Amino acid sequence: MVYFVGAGCGAPDLITVRGAKLLQQADRVIYAGSLVNPALLEDTKPHCLIQNSAKMTLEEVIASIVEGSNQNECIVRLHTGDPSLYGAIREQMDELDKRSIPYEVVPGVSSFCGAAAALHAEYTLPEVSQTLIITRMAGKTPVPERESLRRLAEHQTSMALFLSASLAKEVQNELILGGYSPNTPAAIVYKATWPDEQCFRCTIETLAQTLQEHRITKTALILVGDFLDSQYERSKLYDPTFSTEFRKASKE
Ligand code: SAH
Repeated sequence: MVYFVGAGCGAPDLITVRGAKLLQQADRVIYAGSLVNPALLEDTKPHCLIQNSAKMTLEEVIASIVEGSNQNECIVRLHTGDPSLYGAIREQMDELDKRSIPYEVVPGVSSFCGAAAALHAEYTLPEVSQTLIITRMAGKTPVPERESLRRLAEHQTSMALFLSASLAKEVQNELILGGYSPNTPAAIVYKATWPDEQCFRCTIETLAQTLQEHRITKTALILVGDFLDSQYERSKLYDPTFSTEFRKASKE
């Protein structure tokens, strides 16, 4: 059986219990070497074959999975964070479908969750924003024009930008041209949940400068939005004057 497993975004104990058990059982692990914490590979069986996909093409990854599958192996394809975000898993699943090789996907803790945890932040604050946009600056991989950063910026939601740390100047300009005020709070989280995690708070206007000062060009998320500010309304869910399905409002 083949399992696409989310490794979580850094700390090895952030993998799910299901993912960790599969790693222990695996005969073959193909891991995304650029971002998966190698400490996760320590619990594998002594004869487990371990391959780093950073050095492989899609064809090579599929050939390895097919080889393992022909030998009835338990195969773990280990992706960073959650595999459904910028994980390039769809193309692998389609190749397996073509060959009628069954697989399952095990979700993981994405870096946007790790980054919020590091900052003690909540993306969805009442009266501030109830929407999180997960996106990226167009790079080698283009972004459709209708979802360009400038157009998404019109909404002034909470936003998490993946794969964009090396393009901060453009990010900053596009966000401002799109509608965010230049002094909107922003944050950079480098290697969220890794031992060398670093967080920097700034504004949209100072994003590029902050990244440059700290020499960060990769493995970082850029977060923007007023959720990083201190102003918000408290939730209705825990408000004593509101009833919920589980709790009656207290009488004033
Ligand atoms: N599937 C992954 C994302 C892979 S794309 C996930 O769910 O997190 C790679 C990008 O993710 C990086 O360029 C960076 O923007 C972000 N990223 C991955 N791990 C990170 C971490 N620990 N801290 C901050 N950003 C991270």
